[in-house]
Amino acid sequence: MPFRYGFKAESERRAAEWRARFKLRSEEPLDPRRIAQHMGIEVVKISDLVGLKKTSLAHLMGAGAKDFSAAAVGLGSQWLIVENEAHSIGRRTNSVAHELSHLLLKHPPHPQFGNGGMRNHWKQIEDEADWLGGTLLVPRPAALAVAVEGLDIDTAATRYGVSVPLMRQRLNATGAMIQVKRSRGVN
Ligand SMILES: [Zn+2]
Repeated sequence: MPFRYGFKAESERRAAEWRARFKLRSEEPLDPRRIAQHMGIEVVKISDLVGLKKTSLAHLMGAGAKDFSAAAVGLGSQWLIVENEAHSIGRRTNSVAHELSHLLLKHPPHPQFGNGGMRNHWKQIEDEADWLGGTLLVPRPAALAVAVEGLDIDTAATRYGVSVPLMRQRLNATGAMIQVKRSRGVN
């Protein structure tokens, strides 16, 4: 299903507004945890959860790690984002940005571990959170800067603190690569 009209432009606008708020240039990296902090949303690691049984912690960071990247947990009017420190820092940052995006977009809370049908049902909001999350991390001006500088994807991913697949996806989605190649007269 395509995004509603204007959603992608709105995502870019949000990425630009948050950077302006922190006095960052539009192409500079921005840790989503900073946005969360500004919104009064605490971001914690699984091991920070006091009272979690040792066996649960061991599972979430071991065999169960693939099922749990991050989650936004409502505490009355407050929100908490729990990230799984078993994952690479790039993937964790993607996940935090995804959960934060659900909150920015005021999505209804949804189950983390749905069956196939449920996952389908929520696909639209998941896609929106993925898109906004990716845009907050690597907005179009950032993708363009990466391309102009001619950074390789690994270096770019490290600079923006994101996973390599996310950086690749953003470079493709923004058309940054193509634009730079064209402006240099190379095809
Ligand atoms: Zn989600």
